[in-house]
Amino acid sequence: MTNTKKSIGFVGLGNMGGGMARNLAQAGYSVRVFDLMPEAVQALVDSPAGANITAASSAAEAASSVDVFISMLPAGRHVDGLYLGQGDSPGVLDAMAPNTLIIDSSTIDAATAQKVAAAAEQKNLLMLDAPVSGGTAGADGGTLTFIVGGADAALAQARECLEVMGSNIFHAGPSGSGQIAKVCNNMLLAVHMAGTAEALALGVKNGLDAGVLSDIMKQSSGGNWSLNVYNPYPGVMEGSPASREYAGGFLVDLMTKDLGLAIACAEQSASSIPLGSLAKQLYSMHRDANDAGRLDFSSVQMLFDPSVKS
Ligand code: NAD
Repeated sequence: MTNTKKSIGFVGLGNMGGGMARNLAQAGYSVRVFDLMPEAVQALVDSPAGANITAASSAAEAASSVDVFISMLPAGRHVDGLYLGQGDSPGVLDAMAPNTLIIDSSTIDAATAQKVAAAAEQKNLLMLDAPVSGGTAGADGGTLTFIVGGADAALAQARECLEVMGSNIFHAGPSGSGQIAKVCNNMLLAVHMAGTAEALALGVKNGLDAGVLSDIMKQSSGGNWSLNVYNPYPGVMEGSPASREYAGGFLVDLMTKDLGLAIACAEQSASSIPLGSLAKQLYSMHRDANDAGRLDFSSVQMLFDPSVKS
């Protein structure tokens, strides 16, 4: 039987992209994948969805002759290099067939997202910035929230693929808007996580049990997402990164990167973000003092209560 579903190129198969590409393959799309780490490619080819997955030998090969091209890379410089080229190597925009739809789901600065989308437009290619919220569990489970910037027509074309990988799709506005909305969200997340960790440390230092205090604040005006579903104090919430020595989850390195993006965004728009700036200092201090870059961001609890270090 012929596969009538769109063909997809996918580059960046890390903690997030691996699960997203697998879900597309499991939904019946033919997915051509590439990553600089051959083991990330192999893990997908060997997965139960492997029948719909082909390993490409380069990003350009993953981008040529596909209907939709998706990237999920660490930062703006990687996205710039992938699409526009680096040194002598050309960018993947040069390898794409006319009418390829491009979706970049990396969390990067809005200026790079707009620059790459403008270069794509020059080649008559539609491009969306579509960063995500929902973490690795959302990527694995196909329940991500996509925060999209770009033209209505491009989003209409992208919707069927996004619906496979996510359960919420928001159109924030024109090109770059997805990145701005994402950065606002993550700045708020950093602030309420740090505030939650500080309040729990204060209670524990004064003789309260972290679980009892959490139950009280959850039902009171201090309740918030960090406290309610991602409690940063070890032993309070089963399954949270805090209860597995802060392994996995959303890395301190990535949160620090996102707070840097928030500061850049504030500078460009002459906005004042004193809490976001302080949060950047807190997470950077924590990363350096506790060698915590590869730990989940809720490990910021260690700054306020060093006794939670294992
Ligand atoms: P990751 O470091 O696990 O994965 C990135 C992958 O990209 C790696 O496998 C790397 O080898 C590959 N890569 C880098 N440059 C490449 C290139 N030029 N060509 C091919 N492959 C290349 O990162 P991640 O956790 O998957 O995050 C990806 C993006 O998603 C980041 O922008 C991050 O901020 C964002 N994000 C992450 C989470 C999370 O919980 N991890 C949540 C929301 C958003």
